[in-house]
Amino acid sequence: MKVLNLQCAHGHGFEGWFASNEAFETQLAGGLVSCPICSDTAITKLLTAPRLNLGSAKPPAETPAVPVAENNSPEARWMRAVREVMAKTEDVGERFADEARKMHYGEAEERGIRGQATREEAQTLLEEGIAVFSLPLPPALKETLQ
Ligand SMILES: [Zn+2]
Repeated sequence: MKVLNLQCAHGHGFEGWFASNEAFETQLAGGLVSCPICSDTAITKLLTAPRLNLGSAKPPAETPAVPVAENNSPEARWMRAVREVMAKTEDVGERFADEARKMHYGEAEERGIRGQATREEAQTLLEEGIAVFSLPLPPALKETLQ
């Protein structure tokens, strides 16, 4: 639900509630939006940020992650660490070497990335002073996360 601040040609300000901006545009084009005070249909949208109406129909809360039974085996700790790295990095796939180099030379925004690089690419990056580290990922994990 979008609450829009609207104004008619006579300067009457009022709020209009619409399912979406598109719904507003459609209704406006069809002459269905009118001023509640003077019934003018020459309505303009004021440039204020629409706010979300969360009063009546709350969107369903995001499903909280179901905690997996705590498992502190080295494998489980490793998997958690890997998942954390994957959550915080952007997968650039085979562009990894390119992206790492761009960031190093300030041509791309600094961020955590992961991807595939050949041994030669990784070696070249290291020689250029670009820090890379390899993280062997079990194929099954890749599939569940992407
Ligand atoms: Zn009016």
